[in-house]
Amino acid sequence: MSTRPYIVGNWKMNGTRALLAEARAIDRSAARYPGIQVALAPPATLIAALREAVSAIGVGGQDCHAEAKGAFTGDIAAVQLKDAGADFVIVGHSERRAGHGESDAIVKAKAEAALECGLGVILCVGESLAERDGGHAETIVARQIDGSLPQGDAATAGVPERLAVAYEPVWAIGTGRVAAVEDVVAMHAVLRERLIAAYGDAGKDVRILYGGSVNASNAAALLEAEGVGGALVGGASLTAEAFLPIVAAAGDEPVD
Ligand code: PEP
Repeated sequence: MSTRPYIVGNWKMNGTRALLAEARAIDRSAARYPGIQVALAPPATLIAALREAVSAIGVGGQDCHAEAKGAFTGDIAAVQLKDAGADFVIVGHSERRAGHGESDAIVKAKAEAALECGLGVILCVGESLAERDGGHAETIVARQIDGSLPQGDAATAGVPERLAVAYEPVWAIGTGRVAAVEDVVAMHAVLRERLIAAYGDAGKDVRILYGGSVNASNAAALLEAEGVGGALVGGASLTAEAFLPIVAAAGDEPVD
């Protein structure tokens, strides 16, 4: 089981091959932090090239289909991500849930397909602003995680090593508005409880990341907080200059 902090950059629909220079710079510095697990999830078009370009960091997809093959134009199977060089895939990002109508059941099926073919999974959950303002954040997120967690022997054989959960309040993503540390701690405790209910002792070791406007200034406070096992970073992962201070904030001393 890995207890290393996990710092993951999600490039979303940003980047062409020119951005590989940033990935190389991130990789060189990440090699100096063996106590921190660092990864990037570029657009699918860059997975194979990024795999070739880096050696110290993980490489991931941003979504996969639940089926292994078939007539699904424009989609990518988990096994194809793996074949392209990916180590893991993000599933259930709020931009997929909202923009592509992905239900908890779909997210669960994707997570199961990914784990079954040997990929790691970062499973995202998070409430909207209306849900938080209405006082329903914990109920909503508990329902999401209960409905999205992979089940079945073939998938859960990868828990806890290959499963991480990311708590990403929708209102904090790309807005510059970061969640209060005490709210993050409270939500991570809810998620831990649900993980233990689903997986027993294995649920104690699944890393729970925070995501939503993480940057160099707020990363240390978030990463030091109780129950926070890492960060999923969007905008601030696109350059080495913005991303590396977040890696450094995970607390490990660099080696030379
Ligand atoms: C994300 O897309 O997962 C995310 C957290 O984005 P940002 O860091 O830009 O808020």
